[in-house]
Amino acid sequence: MRIEPRQILQDSETKITIVWSDESKSEFDALQLRRACPCAKCVDEWTGEKILKDEQIDQKLKIEDIKLVGRYALNILFSDGHETGIYSFKYLYELSKESED
Ligand SMILES: [Zn+2]
Repeated sequence: MRIEPRQILQDSETKITIVWSDESKSEFDALQLRRACPCAKCVDEWTGEKILKDEQIDQKLKIEDIKLVGRYALNILFSDGHETGIYSFKYLYELSKESED
């Protein structure tokens, strides 16, 4: 089954909620998303190794803006100016399932 968001809500400066096409709901906070940023500055494109150190992240990080990228991903602008992360819906869905365990 293809997982797509039915609704994307910015609940606060630090939280977004996605309602998925399978009716499940995921909440993400700014720090969690920033830590999981999949861009080439945060993750080595070749080895998949994480470059970003969790302790480098501003603990008061906020989500400034969310943009849709085509029909497959979200681009998130964080208050630290980082805006290169493209979070595919599949990635976000998996991320949310991971954090449930
Ligand atoms: Zn990044």
